[in-house]
Amino acid sequence: MPPIVTIDGPSGTGKSTVTRSIADRFGLPFLDTGAFYRTATLAVLEAGVDPHDADAVVEVVRGVEIDQKAGMTFLDGRDVSERIREADVTGAVSAVSAHPEVRRMMVERQRAWVEEEGGSAVVEGRDIGSVVFPDAEVKVYLDARPEVRARRRAMERGEDPEAVANDLERRDRYDSTRAVSPLTVPDGAVVVDTSDLAFEEVVEAVSALVAAKS
Ligand code: C5P
Repeated sequence: MPPIVTIDGPSGTGKSTVTRSIADRFGLPFLDTGAFYRTATLAVLEAGVDPHDADAVVEVVRGVEIDQKAGMTFLDGRDVSERIREADVTGAVSAVSAHPEVRRMMVERQRAWVEEEGGSAVVEGRDIGSVVFPDAEVKVYLDARPEVRARRRAMERGEDPEAVANDLERRDRYDSTRAVSPLTVPDGAVVVDTSDLAFEEVVEAVSALVAAKS
């Protein structure tokens, strides 16, 4: 049986690229759960709702359909893959994803997505090995020094490194200190510090873990 592979960690550690590579190599579907939370956040912003207003946020999220296929993300059937990377969504996503009821709905939808795909997948996020799939066969936690993560993000987006560093620091703090499912190293996860590794070296390290369980 092909495994469930969970890839958690903060932003700027190469999670998305590594996830896609591993999925490609092992012929598995992949799920970017950050894109789920970003899409929920876009729906909230479009509804004109305050991201901190739990009841109103939950009502919006309950009423929308979020899906992902081949790395593209859809809100009620509309392709929002690019839109959810914009600054307004990034600025509000931590607040939206901190509401316990939002997380409960998202976890349920993420598990259903993997089930529909046949039960095996590479899934990336912040709480995948700890909460969504605690029994996953392979759990990886990617990390990197803060300045390395900020530099990567700034290069990727063509943005000002200092602004990116501030935004990352704010989101890290929010994501690691929220009451429900804070970002944490899951039990049984292999921690890979990607600061001084080339992308290929990270993929090789994770591939070896997956191959051992396939
Ligand atoms: O990975 P990405 O940067 O797109 O994630 C955006 C935000 O979504 C994170 O900062 C975090 O607040 C939230 N998130 C989460 N749980 C996940 C994935 C993402 O709370 N499993």
